[in-house]
Amino acid sequence: MFRHILAATAVATVTVPTAAHQDRFAGVEIETQEIAPGVAVLFGAGGNIGVSYGDDGTILVDDQYAPLTDKIVAAAMALDDDPIRFVFNTHYHGDHTGGNENLGEGGTLIMAHDNVRARLAAALEEGDSDGGLPVITFSDGVTFHWNGDEIHVMHVHHAHTDGDSIVHWRGANVVHMGDTFFNKVTWPYIDLKAGGSIEGVIATAKRVLDHSNADTRIIPGHGPLATRADLQAYHDMLIAIRDGVKAGIDAGESLEQVQSRDLTQPYDTQEGFITGAKFVEAVYKSLTGETDYSPR
Ligand SMILES: [Zn+2]
Ligand SMILES: [Zn+2]
Repeated sequence: MFRHILAATAVATVTVPTAAHQDRFAGVEIETQEIAPGVAVLFGAGGNIGVSYGDDGTILVDDQYAPLTDKIVAAAMALDDDPIRFVFNTHYHGDHTGGNENLGEGGTLIMAHDNVRARLAAALEEGDSDGGLPVITFSDGVTFHWNGDEIHVMHVHHAHTDGDSIVHWRGANVVHMGDTFFNKVTWPYIDLKAGGSIEGVIATAKRVLDHSNADTRIIPGHGPLATRADLQAYHDMLIAIRDGVKAGIDAGESLEQVQSRDLTQPYDTQEGFITGAKFVEAVYKSLTGETDYSPR
């Protein structure tokens, strides 16, 4: 409640930042792509949202930002008008969990790995509502028997963060990889401060490759829907850059020396949220055990 009073005050007295903040989402449209019977992905602003829909109700995998909740709910309802029963968070970052409080207050049960709840709880300030925290947590995995499919959730260790999960629709042959997979729109973000590591990201890509085939459709955390071939290219890029950075470290090179070798040059990944140089920095620090890293 206190936070809402503060927000109302801010509208009255500091109009420019508030207007700018709202403008950021005002023009965002939620685009729906159906992938398989009962499975879709929603693209908007923030992490891609997986949807299971059908007679049992709707599950959302991630929920982007709070100002988009109404649009996200409308897009989900257009697929199936049963209530949103669960929201599953692939990890704790705000571009994947920002809608939690709105959905939780509306009666949706929020689920995530234990470390997602712990990190979201640690970020709460005095007076904040705890309505956005996951109410069901797990350590290794959980399975939804839902909408005629088996939706298997696996925790993957120290990948993008220390609380990542990948979500596998076994029947529909669809996988949501959260931010362990950035498909072409940016270099990977590895949150070293939150327990991420390059080896964990590589292991996650390998694990999904081992459980997929040419027909598998893969929802990345960011970027367009992917095939196994796209994930294979991503995996091979990760290995090549990890090996290049490691060779530099073994030769006694500084981070700047390794960055000057343009290891990312052969790839068509965009310089998005994370630049190639910033990704090389993350790999270097992950391999040397440093955690002092921020994306900007
Ligand atoms: Zn993200
Ligand atoms: Zn993330």
